[in-house]
Amino acid sequence: MEPSKTVYLDNAATTPLDPIVIDAMCEVMTNYGNPSATHALGRKSRGVIETSRKKIAGFLHADAKEIVFTSGGTEADNMAIRCSVNDLGVKHIITSPIEHKAVLQTSQDLVSKGLVSIHLVNVDNDASIDYTHLESLASKYPGALISLMHANNEVGTLLDYKKVSRIAKENNCLFHSDTVQTMGHYAFDVSEFGADFLACSAHKLHGPKGVGFLYVNKKLAIKSMMTGGGQESNHRAGTENIIGIVGMTKALELAFTNVKEEQKHMFGLKTYMMEKVVKELPQVQFNGNTSFDGGLYTVLNCSLPPHPNNALLLFQLDLDGVCCSGGSACNSGAATGSHVLNAINHDPNRQAIRFSFGRFSTKEDVDYTIDVLSKLLQPQTVKV
Ligand code: PLP
Repeated sequence: MEPSKTVYLDNAATTPLDPIVIDAMCEVMTNYGNPSATHALGRKSRGVIETSRKKIAGFLHADAKEIVFTSGGTEADNMAIRCSVNDLGVKHIITSPIEHKAVLQTSQDLVSKGLVSIHLVNVDNDASIDYTHLESLASKYPGALISLMHANNEVGTLLDYKKVSRIAKENNCLFHSDTVQTMGHYAFDVSEFGADFLACSAHKLHGPKGVGFLYVNKKLAIKSMMTGGGQESNHRAGTENIIGIVGMTKALELAFTNVKEEQKHMFGLKTYMMEKVVKELPQVQFNGNTSFDGGLYTVLNCSLPPHPNNALLLFQLDLDGVCCSGGSACNSGAATGSHVLNAINHDPNRQAIRFSFGRFSTKEDVDYTIDVLSKLLQPQTVKV
């Protein structure tokens, strides 16, 4: 049975489409010409795609040719890593144990094929990178690919990308950053960021699922991972997802235009929720860096003390209409614990819950969630 009320605080897993994005996509839905066709209908579609590419490049202060459309963040991460190894001579990957599986499993796959070695940089208990260790790994393996995410998707801790970029340049390394959780949530300038690859997924910023892009520094000559077509200037075979690309462009436009207001709105909600949690739920701790400068303002990961209801807490929250996650969405149904929480020495007797905010989240959502949680966490309240 559907709960009578739904509160959506799982925006790091995915976000609802913005109605303005839906309108933009509807406008191009009848535009069926294949963008690779030379006739008028094909040229019309090609025009839509190239206008989108230029707009996205403009938001990032990049060149249009540096934007390669993909099916989302997983493909963008795969492309950055696999192309670095296949086309750019990378033999070592320096990454961290708290990256998304799109980075970790891709790197492991290349290790299992004997193509690269992987070196994990230490992280501390708030999920920040040990930059001294990074520096020593980079100087030991010059020319490596450094792959470190801009914000951790489970606990939100932000990367000091300027430091990483400096270390990468000093050691002739390539730098890939999974910016799936941050693109559109902060202003981006590719030269200021200093990475060679940046990954984006539209569904994390009120755009459609199944579309994203990889920013690829124009100095790098990569080839398509897939065979079967010369689309995307030979960087990605397959007919482009025009409707998705238009939706993503509109989603990015909305996000970048209102970035300051959105930061204020969502960081306000995060702070409000933290205050309520501290007041109303005893002994809760927060995972990751929760400051504005050190942590992603859309994510709040709470660590609850042992309680008889903990094992079924997500299920019980769900019954009351609250959508949130145990770790990342990909992990919430998994039998094993979160690799991120394990790597930051999270106490296994505590229950971690990730709440994540979006454009449409409200204070009422927070109030309702805290009410439900307080009831569930009263001593010995077993509901099922
Ligand atoms: N990287 C990070 C940090 C993510 O949070 C996600 C989605 O959960 C992905 C990559 C994968 O993106 P997509 O769902 O577009 O494949």
